Amino acid sequence: MEPPHSFVRETSTCAVHHRDYLNRDDDHALCGVAFENPTPLDEPADDVAICPDCAARLAEYHARWWRHRALAAEAELEELRTKYLSDEAHRPAPAADAPATDVPTADDEKEPASLLDHARRELLALCRQCDEAIPYWRLKTAMQKFSDTLSTDQRVLLAQEIGADGSLIRWCTTEIVNLGRQVTNSPVQEESEAMWDAWTHDAYQTPKKTKWRLGRSRSQDAS
Ligand SMILES: [Zn+2]
Repeated sequence: MEPPHSFVRETSTCAVHHRDYLNRDDDHALCGVAFENPTPLDEPADDVAICPDCAARLAEYHARWWRHRALAAEAELEELRTKYLSDEAHRPAPAADAPATDVPTADDEKEPASLLDHARRELLALCRQCDEAIPYWRLKTAMQKFSDTLSTDQRVLLAQEIGADGSLIRWCTTEIVNLGRQVTNSPVQEESEAMWDAWTHDAYQTPKKTKWRLGRSRSQDAS
């Protein structure tokens, strides 16, 4: 883009002047001549002679115009930079936040809605510690540890959430498969399943009997 020009014909002298770009004065031409009977010209014909005094001052106008544009661009850049920095400041730092959400203890403030959610959280924590395949014994240990934190009443609730025909370990295995992983070295023997079934059964039948270790449960403290 070039500095825009506009012309005025002074009717009394027939001379064509530039407008006074520098002072924005409609009564005078760029060269300083006072208009008596000015007529604006859209586009002067090529053979029309432009006032040489006006032409001599064009350089000053052009310099000022370019400087003004440069300053405007600079201001725009500064505005964008401020906005960018402000956005950056409000954006949570990914490096600091991402691992924190992966650590199960970071979620301790808000308790999971249900016991199954709680179990799922333990399961996800376990998955993060393992590769694609989760050894059965690790799953069993983790879930045993989880169930140890529950009160007897909570175990009954959990068994209800799983459903009467399922066991926690069976539910976990399904969840792990749903997560695109697998449990390795899982004993298909009914013995293990029976043990967990007995566990849920026991929880149903004898809630008062503290066969399972109680204590150190945060959710228990909250209830
Ligand atoms: Zn002039």
